Amino acid sequence: MQTIERKTPINLDSRSFRQIGHAMVDRLALLLEELPSKQVTTGESSSEIRGFLGSSSLPLEGTDPMKVMERAMTLLTEHSLYNGHPRFLGYITSAPAPLGALADLLASLVNPNVGAHVLSPMATEIERQTIQWLAEFIGYDPGCGGILVSGGNMANFTAFLAARTAMGSPDLKEKGLAEIDARYVVYCSRSTHTWIEKAANLFGLGLNAVRWIETDEVNRVRVDLLEKQISEDEKKGFTPLMVVATGGDVSTGAVDNLDAVADVCKEHEIWFHIDGAYGVPAVVVPECADLFKGLQRADSVALDPHKWLYCPLEAGCILVKDRKTLIDTFTSHPDYYHFDDEDRSAQNFYELGLQNSRGFRSLKVWMVIQQVGKQGYEEMIRQDIELSRFLFELAEKHPKLQAVSQSLSISTFRFVPDDLSLQEEEREEYLNSLNRELLDRIQKEGQCFLSNAVVGGKYCLRGCVVNFRTSHRDMGDIVDLVVQMGNTLHKKMREI
Ligand SMILES: *Cc1c(COP(=O)(O)O)cnc(C)c1O
Repeated sequence: MQTIERKTPINLDSRSFRQIGHAMVDRLALLLEELPSKQVTTGESSSEIRGFLGSSSLPLEGTDPMKVMERAMTLLTEHSLYNGHPRFLGYITSAPAPLGALADLLASLVNPNVGAHVLSPMATEIERQTIQWLAEFIGYDPGCGGILVSGGNMANFTAFLAARTAMGSPDLKEKGLAEIDARYVVYCSRSTHTWIEKAANLFGLGLNAVRWIETDEVNRVRVDLLEKQISEDEKKGFTPLMVVATGGDVSTGAVDNLDAVADVCKEHEIWFHIDGAYGVPAVVVPECADLFKGLQRADSVALDPHKWLYCPLEAGCILVKDRKTLIDTFTSHPDYYHFDDEDRSAQNFYELGLQNSRGFRSLKVWMVIQQVGKQGYEEMIRQDIELSRFLFELAEKHPKLQAVSQSLSISTFRFVPDDLSLQEEEREEYLNSLNRELLDRIQKEGQCFLSNAVVGGKYCLRGCVVNFRTSHRDMGDIVDLVVQMGNTLHKKMREI
């Protein structure tokens, strides 16, 4: 068949595509080269940033695409925060694997719609294989169901709704909560991520249906209190749906006693979910494997390839032991879909999750896993943990730092000047405001990036290493910087 090329302002002929693409890749390669000598962030205010962007209104006419690309490149390379910078240890955002970035380009140019098999024949199979590999990676049943989603929140939401379907009344899906005579509740520890509140709201249980269980001194759920609360609720006529255990909490990296939680869930016939968005990949490090004992007993596990598998945003994943539960939860067959399932193994991902049209998120995960291999991950994750312990030790040894907690690859510590003569209560108050202000200054100054955690009432600086560029040297530099800035700030605050 012959085609007559239609002239449009959007297409790029192969020559221009190559030209712009090469220019873009060249500049990105330069960025990778220069990254360690750049600031982590510029510290510019949002109004300054807006100034650089300009306030032009909607463009009416088109612009040369090379110019558009160059402008985007300049704006982004000069005014971004780089989580791929060796001294970025904030929150839980990994340095992005460069091959993952190239994968995203490939994914978006082929542009499969991974909602339906017929629209994405190879991409669907690649996603299926990626899910199987992720399950194998963490030692979960490789025959489980699963789906790639945007991140940890969406992964946990997906599991929440699946648990509601599996454990709730059989006619819940048809009748809705209002028609069902049941009071559903879910359980999680105090250190659970905020997604649980969004989920309780979104899926109609309401915030009061979340039972927050107290934690022990190292932030793990108190299983005795969990069991007690469940028994009391059952007596009062509540219906427990799920227990959420955390595999690496966001503040301190604590891992709940998964095996003990699994026992409680089994005894009371409750869905056992693990939020392993951050920490679960650490199970590949043999020294950490014991921490995750009981993981394979979970009904569902959330994990985030865009955290400790170093994939570029966005990539989250939910694994559900019984694949049928996902289908029961999400499938429907409206008249306008005619996706025959001739080949019984064909799979339409729209039937397994919340999205309909779906991008090809799994490609970057699939490609990076092959580049690195399980062994490569074991090595990098172990190094991240070692670096985090090293940071903790540096804080322990320093006369002006107090090391507070260390678990997985998260350390917390705070700046404590050596000339404080305040009484206990006043002292803690001062230290909290000093460290809060210090963190703010560190973040704005842009030489390194830490975030915060409140541990036992102490406002702490927090470093989380999910960064394959960080070295021991960076940790030393970070400590020096914190102490130097802490000294200056303390002096200033005392003068006021
Ligand atoms: C990061 C994280 C989340 C949220 O994940 P997103 O990818 O940011 O949506 C939820 N739970 C835990 C334990 C996390 O570490």
